[in-house]
Amino acid sequence: MEQTLVLDFLGELRRTHSCGELRASDAGTRTVLMGWVHRRRDLGKVIFVHLRDREGVTQVVFNEGVNPGVHDRAEMLRSEYVVAIEGTVALRTPETINPNLETGEVEVRAERIWILNDSRTPPFPMEENVDVAEDVRLKYRYADLRRPHMQRNLVLRSKVSFAVREFLDSQGFLEIETPFMTRSTPEGARDFLVPSRLQPGAFYALPQSPQIFKQLLMVSGFEKYFQIVRCFRDEDLRADRQPEFTQIDLEMSFPQQEQIFEVIEPLVQRVCAVAGYEIPAPFPRLTYAEAMRSYGTDKPDLRLPPFHAVEDLFPDAALGPAGLPLVAILIPGVGPLSRRERDELKAFGTERGLRVYDDLRRLERDFAEPMARVRGRTRAAENDLLLLAGWAGEPKGQRPEESVFQACGQLRLYAGQKYNDRHLLLNPANFQFLWVVDFPMFEWGDEEKRWNAAHHPFTSVHDDDIDKLTADPARCRAKSYDIVLNGVELGSGSIRIHRRDIQAKVFNALGFSDEEARRRFGFLLEALEYGAPPHGGIALGLDRFVMILAGENSIREVIPFPKTAKGTDLMCDAPSPVPPEQLRDLGLQLRRGQ
Ligand code: ASP
Repeated sequence: MEQTLVLDFLGELRRTHSCGELRASDAGTRTVLMGWVHRRRDLGKVIFVHLRDREGVTQVVFNEGVNPGVHDRAEMLRSEYVVAIEGTVALRTPETINPNLETGEVEVRAERIWILNDSRTPPFPMEENVDVAEDVRLKYRYADLRRPHMQRNLVLRSKVSFAVREFLDSQGFLEIETPFMTRSTPEGARDFLVPSRLQPGAFYALPQSPQIFKQLLMVSGFEKYFQIVRCFRDEDLRADRQPEFTQIDLEMSFPQQEQIFEVIEPLVQRVCAVAGYEIPAPFPRLTYAEAMRSYGTDKPDLRLPPFHAVEDLFPDAALGPAGLPLVAILIPGVGPLSRRERDELKAFGTERGLRVYDDLRRLERDFAEPMARVRGRTRAAENDLLLLAGWAGEPKGQRPEESVFQACGQLRLYAGQKYNDRHLLLNPANFQFLWVVDFPMFEWGDEEKRWNAAHHPFTSVHDDDIDKLTADPARCRAKSYDIVLNGVELGSGSIRIHRRDIQAKVFNALGFSDEEARRRFGFLLEALEYGAPPHGGIALGLDRFVMILAGENSIREVIPFPKTAKGTDLMCDAPSPVPPEQLRDLGLQLRRGQ
C-alpha cells in the first residue's frame, strides 16, 4: 500500500559532519549527516543510500533487522529528497570498500531519519557525465548547479576571487566600489540604459567598466585601487560573450608599465596555483608589431611556433606583390598531408586573400637556394608542415602588411588546430602567458571613416609618437598592453593621460568636437585640472580566466546564472515585458508592434 509521505521538522537537530568527511579512523563515532539522496539501492531488507552534500558522498545503510521503523521510512526516499540521518560510523568489509569515494572505507548505520523535503523527479540525473541540452540546463539551473563539475567550477571561482583579494590587499590595494547606475563609459560597446523615474526622459547607463571612476580615485589620492566588478556591454552576443561579465579591475598612481606587470604576474601565479598549476614568470613581452610579424595576431598562442617573413630571401615579387610580406608557416610534427588536406589549407588561405604555396618540391626546384635558407630560418624538420603564403591581390587597409600577417596568423592557427591530434602541441593544461605591448593608438573605423581609440580614449600616447597624433595616426603607438594566455586575451590596460591638454588633443584626434568632449567627459577633463597624478591600470576577465583554469570551453560553465547567446535568462525568463503602469511611471511608451 502506498504510504503518504509526512515530512519532518529539523527542530533542534544539528549536523555533526559533512558527507565528505568520515574516514576509517572515525569508526564508532556517532554522526548526524544532512544532504540529498544521490542514489538509492533497495535490496529489500537492506537499503543503501548515497547521501550527498557539497563536500562529498557517504553511504548510509538502513537495516530492517536492526531498526524496522527507520528502514520503513527509508523505503520512501527518492532521488534528491532532503534528509538528515543519525547513526554510527562503521568500517566496511574489505570487499565492499568503494575506492571511488573519499569516504569509501566507511558507511553510516542509520538509527534515525528525518525526511526534511521531497523532490520532484529531477529533469536530469545529478551526474557529471550526462549530456543534457543546454537550454534544459539553463532552465533548471539550480539543479544543473548541483552537478559535481558545476560545484567544482564555482568553488574554484570563489577560491580565485579570494586569492585575488588576499594578494592585492597584501600589496596595498584598496577594494573600492564604483556605481552601477552611472553615465555612459567609452569601452566601445553599446550601453544598457536604465530609465529614471524621478527625471523622466533621462537615463542611467550601466557601466561597461569602472574606467573613469577608477581614474578619479587616483585623482582623489587612493593610489592603489582594485575591484572584482561586474561590467555590462550590450553587444550582439558573439560565440562566448555575456552581457554582464566580471573583471578584476585595478589602477595605480605613479606606475611604470613594468610595475603594473610586476603586480599582475605574481597575481596570475597565485591564481594558477589555486587551480594546481605552477607558472613561470616573468612572462615574455612582445611588441604589437613583433606579435603581428611573428604570429599575425595581437593574441598569439605561443604553444605553436612563430612564422617567419621570408620575402628578403626571394627575388623581388617572385611569390607575391613587391613590398608585401611573404610568410613561411611551420607546424611541427604534422607529417605528410593528403592532396585533399592540402587543398583544404589552400582554400582556407585563398578565402582570406592569400596565395598559399604548398608544393615544396616545386619551390625547391625553382628556388633551391632561397628555400634552403627558409628551412634554416624556420628550422623545419622532415616531419613538419611547411607552407609559404603571400598576398594574392591589391594591398588592403591602412597597414597593408598587417592584412597579410593577419591572414597568415589565421592559417597558422587553423592548421595547428586541425592537425593537433598529430602533434599535440595545443595542450590546454600548458599555460603560455605573454604581454603584448606598444599597441597602435588608433584603429581605422571603415564605417565611420575615422580613427577610433584602439584601447579607449584615456590611453597615453607613446612618448616618441606624440607628434604622430595627427600627422601619422596609423603609426602612432599607445602605452597600452594586453596579457594573453594561449591565444586568448585575458586582460588589457594602459598608462592613462593625466594632463588635460593632452587629453583634449587625443579627443581631438578622435574627432570629438570640444563641445562633445565636454558634454560626455567634462567631469573627467575638469578633474584632470586638480592635480591628477600619472596613473595606469588594467582589467582581467575573471570569467575567462576561471574557464581556462577549469578546463572548460565556455564561460557559461563558470558563471552561476548565465544568459543564452540571445541574452535571455531561461530560468527567470528575463528580459520580460512590464505592465503599462510601470512604463507610465517612467514616462515611457512603446512603439506599436514592440
Ligand atoms: N577599462 C579597460 C577595459 O575594461 C581596462 C583598463 O584600461 O584598465 O578593458
